[in-house]
Amino acid sequence: MTNAALESRVAHDKDLLVSFGGSMDGWEYTGVVLDAGKAVAKCGCGHAIRYEFVWGHKDGRSNITGSVCVNNAAFIDPTAVAAMEADLEALKAKQAADRKAARLAAETEAVKAKVAELEAAIASSPYGVLVRANEEVRGWVGESVYGARLAVRGAHRAIRGALTLKTPKGQLKRLEEVRKSLRYQFSYINLGY
Ligand SMILES: [Zn+2]
Repeated sequence: MTNAALESRVAHDKDLLVSFGGSMDGWEYTGVVLDAGKAVAKCGCGHAIRYEFVWGHKDGRSNITGSVCVNNAAFIDPTAVAAMEADLEALKAKQAADRKAARLAAETEAVKAKVAELEAAIASSPYGVLVRANEEVRGWVGESVYGARLAVRGAHRAIRGALTLKTPKGQLKRLEEVRKSLRYQFSYINLGY
């Protein structure tokens, strides 16, 4: 380490210690770590930090540090540093799990919307209209009604089939294929391109 780097380290650690009131006596890392989203929070030393680790003193004072700042400071208990690192890992893992859950929820919503869109398109297509108009007709129906019933039934079966896939992402992809195939089968169906 160059002299300049060493001096800046010493100055930094001094600032850090000042933020603890000049002594670590009575201070403890609380186990609370907050995420500011980006490096807009401040460590006691003045550094910009993203993850804020909260320290508490038994007299009620509190202080905030980053995890890197404390790493090399001789007066910080290494077990606290280890706890901070573990807490940061746990926080990041939880955030990743939360993001995944949110993504799944959004995809599930997208599946619902896609199914509703397809159902509406089928219902409003000439096939759908013809089937509904003849809903009460039992027994023999003309070829056009028969064909329309088959087509509508097949379309609903294709949608149900897509919904048996494991992930909403897979379901969405299959529903998109269903939409494309329906567009041809229901050549005049209003399902875009
Ligand atoms: Zn710092």
